[in-house]
Amino acid sequence: MNPSVTLDEEWPGHQSVVDYKKNQKLRKVLAHLYTEGTCTLAHLTKVLHSSVPSVTNLVEELIDSKWVTTLGMATGSNGRRPVLFGLNTKHNYVAVLDVSTHDTKILFMNTQREVIFRGDYDLRLNDNPAFLTSLVSYFTDALTDSRLSPTDLIAVGISMPGLIDARRGLNLTYKNLSQTGESVTDWFSMQVGYPVYLINDTKATVLGESRFGGAKGKKQVLAINIDWGVGLGIIVNGEVFQGASGFAGELGHVQVDPDGELCYCGKIGCLNTVTSASALVKRVQRDILTGQVSKLAAFYDKVEQIDIDEIISAAHKGDSYAIDILHETGFQLGKGLAVAISLFNPEIIIVDGVLTKAAAFILNTIEQAISKYCLSDFRNDLTIELTQLNGTAKWLGTHAYMMEDIFANY
Ligand SMILES: [Zn+2]
Repeated sequence: MNPSVTLDEEWPGHQSVVDYKKNQKLRKVLAHLYTEGTCTLAHLTKVLHSSVPSVTNLVEELIDSKWVTTLGMATGSNGRRPVLFGLNTKHNYVAVLDVSTHDTKILFMNTQREVIFRGDYDLRLNDNPAFLTSLVSYFTDALTDSRLSPTDLIAVGISMPGLIDARRGLNLTYKNLSQTGESVTDWFSMQVGYPVYLINDTKATVLGESRFGGAKGKKQVLAINIDWGVGLGIIVNGEVFQGASGFAGELGHVQVDPDGELCYCGKIGCLNTVTSASALVKRVQRDILTGQVSKLAAFYDKVEQIDIDEIISAAHKGDSYAIDILHETGFQLGKGLAVAISLFNPEIIIVDGVLTKAAAFILNTIEQAISKYCLSDFRNDLTIELTQLNGTAKWLGTHAYMMEDIFANY
């Protein structure tokens, strides 16, 4: 009797263990090319601790399945220059749907994270099923406009604010996006015919910064996203910290002013009510109507036209009211961040979101507040930086969220 047959019969999983090991290596090649861009065979053999023939086979298999392609020759070495391999940009596109309470952007990106189509739409996140129906039709139109072959698209990722339960595909802040208890991702996937991922916008931002931005290679990271709300993304030991239900980092709903305004969450004086872009715009509009002296008073008869860009622009022109109000915002943000610093002892904080355009007015005061409210030892190993990703961290993070899952299940 052939002993290997006996083994197979006694342990039906025997064959799949070999497959499993091979798939593990294929996944590792994909993940490595994804973060590094291009790579030579020689380098891949080191990464995988495998022989040249074995790695050659793996790469050939990935070329056949259209995941990998040759991308020119390595430069700089003497003699024969080795071939560079990278992810194939002509296949396996993903869609990123960047949804906020202010607008929606739809992007199609290739495997090298290049945006090959972008559409900006006046579609605001609204807590009713009609919003998702609109999002489906905007997506379908964008796919047509992009001229991508629908068969080359492999996944759709939606980033939005709110408490996202990724396991069940629900947004618990915007509960009425789907029928009671129905998964947003399942519903969307049924409509469009692709796998759909849902990620909180701030978690997407911190993931983007951690994989491709200023926090790349850093283990303990905070990313504060100051948009229409205030979110805190947390990286602990190199991975996004989720908390028990995936909600960790809701810094925007920490109370900073017990006598403050009502937050949309129902509580009083949340950090959001003081420092988010929408809170700032509302406060300025109210101040102008009550006779505040400022260049912005020119909008007295049309205060609804005052937006965050007008406020920042007034500050840049030296308007002392606009400067004061941005300083105050930075200080309150720093006060909120001091709590997070005491809890997580980060090595870097990345500041992201629409208010980064006001960096000249808020960064210093953020630092002042941190110095005032944090133990000085926490400051020693801490740097505070503005994002270098120019508004793309959220998209890159959504992209990585999808790709890392696709690779993990390859
Ligand atoms: Zn709140």
